[in-house]
Order: sequence, then C-alpha cells, then structure tokens
Amino acid sequence: MAVCARLCGVGPSRGCRRRQQRRGPAEAAAADSEPDTDPEEERIEAGAAALAGAGDGRSAGPSSPPRCSLLELPPELLVEIFASLPGTDLPSLAQVCTKFRRILHTDTIWRRRCREEYGVCENLRKLEITGVSCRDVYAKCINPRVKSGRFMKILPDYEHMEYRDVYTCLLHRYRHILGLWQPDIGPYGGLLNVVVDGLFIIGWMYLPPHDPHVDDPMRFKPLFRIHLMERKSATVECMYGHRGPHNGHVQIVKKDEFSTKCNQTDHHRMSGGRQEEFRTWLREEWGRTLEDIFHEHMQELILMKFIYTSQYDNCLTYRRIYLPPSHPDDLIRPGLFKGTYGSHGLEIVMLSFHGKHARGTKITGDPNIPAGQQTVEIDLRHRIHLPDIESLRDFNELSRIVLEVREQVRQEQQQEGGPEDAAGLGRQSPQPCAESPAEQAKGPGDGGAEAAAEPPAQSGQGQPFVLPVGVSSRNEDYPRTCRMCFYGTGLIAGHGFTSPERTPGVFVLFDEDRFGFIWLELKSFSLYSRVQAAFRNADAPSPQAFEEMLKNIQSLAS
Ligand SMILES: [Zn+2]
Repeated sequence: MAVCARLCGVGPSRGCRRRQQRRGPAEAAAADSEPDTDPEEERIEAGAAALAGAGDGRSAGPSSPPRCSLLELPPELLVEIFASLPGTDLPSLAQVCTKFRRILHTDTIWRRRCREEYGVCENLRKLEITGVSCRDVYAKCINPRVKSGRFMKILPDYEHMEYRDVYTCLLHRYRHILGLWQPDIGPYGGLLNVVVDGLFIIGWMYLPPHDPHVDDPMRFKPLFRIHLMERKSATVECMYGHRGPHNGHVQIVKKDEFSTKCNQTDHHRMSGGRQEEFRTWLREEWGRTLEDIFHEHMQELILMKFIYTSQYDNCLTYRRIYLPPSHPDDLIRPGLFKGTYGSHGLEIVMLSFHGKHARGTKITGDPNIPAGQQTVEIDLRHRIHLPDIESLRDFNELSRIVLEVREQVRQEQQQEGGPEDAAGLGRQSPQPCAESPAEQAKGPGDGGAEAAAEPPAQSGQGQPFVLPVGVSSRNEDYPRTCRMCFYGTGLIAGHGFTSPERTPGVFVLFDEDRFGFIWLELKSFSLYSRVQAAFRNADAPSPQAFEEMLKNIQSLAS
C-alpha cells in the first residue's frame, strides 16, 4: 500500500509534469532521482495519466490542484484502464497492491486482452462452437470414418474457464509459435500456419491441390493442437494419422524456431500395415493410385517421398517464414503460388519483388531443387516481346529471341562489373538502368516494375498466347492470352541438388493471379496460380526481416 500511496496524481504537480515528458519506462528509470521509484510504477502512472486526460496538465485548474491518487479511482475506471494495457503489463500491476490484484481478477479485462491481442472472440459459448467446428473439420474432412462422438469427451471444460487462464496458460505461453512456418523435412519443405481458433491453437498444414490442377484450392489438415483442458494446464495433442488426437509435445527451441513431438506414434499406424499407410497417403497426396501413375520415374519419386517423410512421424522442426511485403510499384501482388514441377507434382512457390528483379522461392521442394532455393528469377528490366501467334508456335524462333536477350544481359553485366548479386538487390540499392530495346517504354523511375504501367498491362486484354510446339505442360488449361513477358532464369540441378545452374527462360504474366515459366532447355512449361488462402500472423515485421528470412531458408537448404 505504501507504494500505491506515492502513485502520481492526475493534477499538474511538478513531479507529474516531469513524468509526462518522459518517453518510456527505461528512460524514466534512468532519469529519476527518487531512490525508491521503479520503472513499473512509472508505467502505471503514464497509463493512468493518459487515460485521465491530464496530458496537458491544465485540466485541473491553475490554482488549487486536487490530489487524486490512482488508487482512489472507482473500480470500474481502474478496470477500464487496466483492460487497455498490454496483457504482459498486468502481472506487474497485480504485484503493486491487493486492490490492484483483486481488480485484475475481473475477467472482462482478460477477455479484452484475448480479443485485442489474439483475436479470440468475446463469448465462451461461441468459443465452444468454434471448438466443435474444429473437431468437425477434423472428423469430417480428414477422416470421415471417425465418429465425432469420441471428440466430445475431450472438449475442454468451458464452464469453469476464465479468460485470464486462456490468456496466460494458452495464448501468452504459446505466442511464439503463432505464424507461418516451414518444416525442416529434407528437400521437401512444407507450409504450416499456427493460429488461434477458439480456445485452441492449431497447427494447420497446407498442402497443394492434386497435380496438375493448380487452380484448385489448397488442402489443409491439422498436425497438432493445443488447448486448455483444465483451468491451468494447456494440453498439446498430435493430430497426425487417422486415429484421432493423441498425446504430443511442443518445444520452443529459440526465436523463430520450434519443434513438435508425438508421444504415441502407434496412432499413426494402420491395421493394414505400411502398405495401407502408403495407399492412404497416395490417395490424399495425389488423389490417385500408384497404378494410375504410369510414369515409372514419377512412381519412384512418389515412393521415395513417402518413405522419407513418413519416417519423421510428425516429429518436426519448424522455421519461421514471412509473406513477402508488397509495394505499389510491384508488377502484381506478391505472395504464394502453386506451380507445376513436372514429375515432382505441384510445389508451393513464393513470389517476391526486389527492385528490378522478381524472385520465386520454393516453400516446398523436391530432391532436385530443394525447398528454400530460388527456383526462378525474373529480370524486370528485360521484357520479351512475343512474336505473332504463328511464329510463337515455332520453338526455334522463341529460343532465338530469348538467347538474344541473354546475350544482351551478359554484356550489361560485364559493363556493370561482373555478374550482379541478385541477393543483395533491394529497393534500397538502385542500380543504373541498362539501355536496351526492352527499356524503351520504361519510365525514368528506379524499378523495372514501371513496365507494368505499359499499355498492354493497362488494357487488361493482353495478347494471344500459345506454347511452342514441343514444349510440354502438365496442365493444358493454361490461359491463351498473356499481359506481358520477361526474360528470366530458372534453377536446375541433378538429383540431390548436384551441380545447380541457372538456365534461360521466359516469364509469362497471364493475370493478377497467374503466371508461367517456359524452361527453354528442358522444353517444359510451369504454370503458377495464386494461393487464395489467408494466413494469419504471417507478415514480415520489416522488408529487411523478409530478406533475412529468404537468405536463411536458402542457406539451410544448400
Ligand atoms: Zn502422433
């Protein structure tokens, strides 16, 4: 109580004005000459002063300032004040005095913290419904054979649940695992979004649609979930396999990394043994049977992936990834795309813009080019003007055009002093614009993205497009008009990422949500279609943090 008594009033006392001028608790602590004032106290004062509208120090009148302690405020007002503070500040408030501690038992404070900081909805009844919906997703979509009844028994005890427990034992405790992640699973990668869903934290694994239907939506299934079973303890459950949730474990290794462990891997096994597990996996992953896949090489690749990935048994380490930051000058909105990768099936690729280049980074990968690597790089300074539709059918004609541009790029690179470091190219490091025919229509700005403002893009009509004879495409449904094309390079390598090299190609922009890449030397075409799913807690804190993340996942894969 002694501490409280000294808490700053809202009037224009000398000490108060002095405190109002401070920026943060750390500075306050450093500057304060009073020996027994701690930063926590200052923070409380600052919050109270701001709320009471005493910022200008004039409201109380100049002559006789009434002394009004924070402690004397009515409880409703204190609740209001406390509810507006970050939840992480509340425990220290509770330590100030018994009155504060008592007030902090008010669950509306914690309800607001849960909502504002983690998006949890307001009503515990509704939360229950969300929990059921999650159960239904699992029961119906993932395994229709599982009766939903068995999930009823394991639903948390909502009757006695308090938002304070939800905040402290679930949301705050596991806040570091919320967001977008890539599992460390050899060359294959993956995409996991950990989100708050009702009283659960759920790790959703996103899988590409079945090959080669790139326009189909992503499929998703829960890999683990965390929820409050009793008031104080959150339970981690592994959701892998087909026999319902079972005991699991989550460990936060360090910042931007965590791992999961399954404690009952027998739940992943099937009565029919490995054969049945493989057939089920094949049906889910590829939507067909092994016999349907005539291609022998493809059968091998699929079998290899099954053997490799299933050995992890849902014991995985995840690294944080971010969605690319977008900029008004970008050619199209950056983001995640599903792309065809020949016999490897569909892979997830992240498109991001870096000044005069755009990059496609693999979020999932294969034994040739693993996850994390840069699969395509698009040179936005070099547009390729496609010939008329008849000449376009002639592969040699397209080849000639592309190789001409490649030669030009080489010459420019020599002039600029060696091959340019694509990784180091950011918006912060503008490079001199190269003079080239492809540049003619370009504005004077600092990025190649201005090309997007050229008439073909604006018209929205585009020009007729067709693949040259001899170029294979797994998806014959590629669009027959395109907005514009650019020179680009694609990364190819032998099995095991051996002797990788960049090979020339054509980036074809169809529309806001679709693009393609013609792999010249492979005589093959990849079609990419935007991932429409919305991911939560996935934005990069800064463009620098995004670049850093790209560098990290690339170095870990090579
Ligand atoms: Zn498990």
